[in-house]
Amino acid sequence: MKLSARAQRLQPSATLTITAKAKALKSQGVDVIGFGAGEPDFDSPDHVKEEAIRAINKGMTKYTGVGGIDELKDAIIYRLKEDHNLEYEKSEIIASVGAKHTLYNIMQVLFDSGDEVIVPAPYWVSYPEQIRLAEATPVILDTKEAEGFKILPDDLRAHINSKTKALILNYPSNPTGATYNEEELRAIVDVAMDAGLIIISDEIYEKIVYNGIKHIPVASLGEDIKKSTILVNGVSKTYSMTGWRIGYAAGDKEVISAMSKLQGQSTSNPTSISQWAAIAAFTGDHQVIEDRTKEFEQRKNYIVEKLNDIPEIYCFDPQGAFYVFPNVSGYYGKEYNGKVIKDSLDFTEFVLDEAKVAVVPGVAFGSDDHVRISYATSMDDIVEGINRITEAVKKLS
Ligand SMILES: *Cc1c(COP(=O)(O)O)cnc(C)c1O
Repeated sequence: MKLSARAQRLQPSATLTITAKAKALKSQGVDVIGFGAGEPDFDSPDHVKEEAIRAINKGMTKYTGVGGIDELKDAIIYRLKEDHNLEYEKSEIIASVGAKHTLYNIMQVLFDSGDEVIVPAPYWVSYPEQIRLAEATPVILDTKEAEGFKILPDDLRAHINSKTKALILNYPSNPTGATYNEEELRAIVDVAMDAGLIIISDEIYEKIVYNGIKHIPVASLGEDIKKSTILVNGVSKTYSMTGWRIGYAAGDKEVISAMSKLQGQSTSNPTSISQWAAIAAFTGDHQVIEDRTKEFEQRKNYIVEKLNDIPEIYCFDPQGAFYVFPNVSGYYGKEYNGKVIKDSLDFTEFVLDEAKVAVVPGVAFGSDDHVRISYATSMDDIVEGINRITEAVKKLS
């Protein structure tokens, strides 16, 4: 069958080849250590699971309102007020099938062919593809490692023209772990506001921050800014609930209402049972979240130190999320067994073949000098995996 032009344009994930190879090795009984995970290794909290079971037993298993039940919207509103003193009404909130779906809906209702959308790189893999699916054009804004992977206001200004409709922000960032303090954020947002841009702010890692940092949502910077911002968040990362598929957007009524219309013709409501579980997550005890973030921070500290001990690797110290994004380009041009390492894909293959460790090539995130290592895995695996990488790269000359 002939596929649509849209389907043919879709890029397969550059991470798939490596993941498939790692899986094949594992099924052959090879002891592969996986650093590819894009989700917390922790289980969903008990009170979340209990609430889901209660919802099933009470028959909460029917269609709900398209954008989620009122109780869920109230729980989201409560969280935003409690954590950030942000005020929203129910008409400004929509729940979807994970934040990825939320983002997809946003792009579909906001963008047309001819629109340009600024995506800071390194970026989360789905932004450019979702923008293209909405027929708009992603404009990549490269950030520099030396600047802590942060957008500089002048760089942003230089990427804006009359076609620019929106700016995507994601902090703490997947894959770099970079985040912004209030002053830095204001400087960027001022440029976006001057140009009349919509700000789509993916803050899904807001609770996973280190060194005592307090996350500052874009929308909290002022009433005008809040009006121009669509805040995206969800339960996947904060509450270790990736499989439940609940994400949300908070922002302009008209946009939310358009998203609801689109959702009404595509997925309808996110799973009713998951909505109740999400309410338990948003309103329940948050101590478990703090404990897990401390655990992530310990792993992060270990891994950053060990990677920086490797001669040709530089590893930026992330302030949030659960990834490190080491620069491995010092090994480019070196070889082993007659094969020259030329880019992040080659390095990733080398590490999988020689160290039996699976990492993700930076090219998938728009940065070919790096690889992404997730530390959402046990400390034992981290110690063993980093040891193996340390030994393997010694073979490169
Ligand atoms: C994981 C992730 C998402 C999507 O999460 P959902 O599971 O769809 O809620 C969105 N943005 C970033 C940056 C992510 O890492």
